[in-house]
Amino acid sequence: METIRVLSDFHAAHRQLNYDGKCRYVHGHTWIGTFVLKAEQFPRNHLDMSIDFGHLKDILRHLDHKMMVCEQDEVFLKSGLFEPEGVVLIPGDSPSVENVANYCLERVIQVIRSEYPDRGISYDIEVTIQETDHNIFVVERSVTI
Ligand SMILES: [Zn+2]
Repeated sequence: METIRVLSDFHAAHRQLNYDGKCRYVHGHTWIGTFVLKAEQFPRNHLDMSIDFGHLKDILRHLDHKMMVCEQDEVFLKSGLFEPEGVVLIPGDSPSVENVANYCLERVIQVIRSEYPDRGISYDIEVTIQETDHNIFVVERSVTI
């Protein structure tokens, strides 16, 4: 069994629309994302390197210094008011830590699919997103690609 583990922090803002509490106001965190990928043996490129660590970290870098919003947060999605490059649309009903983790999980799967498509390799993927020192969400999925 082989394991790839990458982590990176990123500074990003969000707000929970319609939340009954202070989280409904725009606020930021220094988030920490950790990706753990396991496979019996990862595929290798011509340099005997497996999934590109940099491509995985790019998922988190893409969120750095951004405003993470859900589709209902129309104010931030008006390109006349906010530069679209500074806004990341997170699928779901809010940019919660749960939805940020699932967004990252889908991107991890896309990285594997683009680098090593159709190999029939089973991966266990775990994405941990730490919103604060005390708020951490973990999502795991097994996929064959
Ligand atoms: Zn928050």
